[in-house]
Amino acid sequence: MTVIKLKESNPIEAHIAQLKIWQRDCKKFQQTALYDLLSETIVLMKKLHKEKPDTPTENFTHTAADLAFSDYIRARANYCCERCGKQYPKKSTALQCSHHFSRRFYSIRYHPDNAAALCHHCHNYWFSKDILESAAWLHERLSQSQIDELIRLKKLPNATQKLSASQQDEIAEYYRNLLKDLENESQAV
Ligand SMILES: [Zn+2]
Repeated sequence: MTVIKLKESNPIEAHIAQLKIWQRDCKKFQQTALYDLLSETIVLMKKLHKEKPDTPTENFTHTAADLAFSDYIRARANYCCERCGKQYPKKSTALQCSHHFSRRFYSIRYHPDNAAALCHHCHNYWFSKDILESAAWLHERLSQSQIDELIRLKKLPNATQKLSASQQDEIAEYYRNLLKDLENESQAV
């Protein structure tokens, strides 16, 4: 049997690569518990190996689900700040995904009604400081029943419970698909 050796990949990286293959199989066969365990193991191994994980974890501000959600929210706004209307290039980080109710509530962290695309200034200097004005703005954007629903979800007993890796992956995939739909629609016009 011939074993093809890839460069001089170190044993930890090789091991992580193996785990990722198992992880893909777990996803395919919907072995979510094992998938989550493997995901955590991979993250832990990378951390121990002092390597920056390519799938950001909870220790980082943005997970894959956060990124996909943010990409969708900004595309939905056609890359314009939803308050001041300034247009930004597609990849610009100056246009941010702003949450109305805190991201620490996982029950609404990825809720499309709970976010808007805001430029850095409107996000940090207006939305978080001029609370009454931003609340009034929120009332213009959303109906009372949409706001009530967000508050209901925010008050659920497990609202701040972190999501598993497989749940995060599912969310990431969902928003990546929505983004694709948006892009296809805009091309069709
Ligand atoms: Zn703005």
